[in-house]
Amino acid sequence: MSVLIEEAESINHAVRLIKAASHVVAFTGAGISTPSGIPDFRSPDSGMWKQVDPFRVASIAGFRRDPSAFFRWVRPLAKLSLLAKPNEAHDALFKLEQIGKLKSIITQNIDTLHTKAGNRVVHELHGQIHEATCISCYKHFSAEKLIETFVETGEIPRCDCERKSILKPNVILFGEQLPFKTLQAAKKAVRACDILLVIGSSLEVAPASDLPLLARRNGARIIIVNESATDYDRMADIVLKGDAAKLLPTIVQQVENAI
Ligand code: NAD
Repeated sequence: MSVLIEEAESINHAVRLIKAASHVVAFTGAGISTPSGIPDFRSPDSGMWKQVDPFRVASIAGFRRDPSAFFRWVRPLAKLSLLAKPNEAHDALFKLEQIGKLKSIITQNIDTLHTKAGNRVVHELHGQIHEATCISCYKHFSAEKLIETFVETGEIPRCDCERKSILKPNVILFGEQLPFKTLQAAKKAVRACDILLVIGSSLEVAPASDLPLLARRNGARIIIVNESATDYDRMADIVLKGDAAKLLPTIVQQVENAI
């Protein structure tokens, strides 16, 4: 069977499943935002691998050891996140929510593009880059302005407290615990869904990557939309290989037409 016929059949299958479903949840990773210009971690030509190992520099141990290395590394990502706009894949998920199918999104992304697209229930498992906290006094900052200044000057953002300590962006670094309440809410969503739509994730970062297994154990169907193969492909009902910004709008349009 040709690849195109195979893809069309998988799309039809996905449309049939989503049409029949009453509770769809999306689980997204960095791949959904690459068409918005933000590189992921594991695509072979991703810029984020070129100079440093993100798993070293973006770890909590690395941050404590050398915060300036973390800020140097995160600066281009912060800039891209500031400039980025939701792409067709984010918009398709917003439409899926509007037509009553999608109940929530669980994302590993820190770029806030799902909320910018309009989705109302978004569980940000790894935090988000638009807020920061002082590492000494724990004062919380909305970081939009701070990020703009940091992106422009490269100066590490600091608190106005006595110690003028560094402000750590509210993102979960490798080696840190996930926010408890968010993880609980994500697990609840996964247990309730009849379809988990997994988009743009290598599924290599635990414990987030355990969520598709939980969905499976609770009887949900799994649809994976990803450019490269994942270890979870074998347990998925449908695997669509390709660009989420092309595949998702096609699927959602067909679901909408069929309602
Ligand atoms: P990952 O980099 O490990 O994997 C991304 C996956 O998406 C890859 O398998 C790749 O083949 C696929 N992909 C790339 N472009 C795609 C596209 N257009 N359509 C479909 N698939 C595409 O990402 P991950 O699994 O999310 O884990 C990485 C960690 O890095 C996460 O914790 C995340 O917080 C963080 N991260 C976030 C951002 C962001 O917020 N945009 C960017 C980089 C990394």
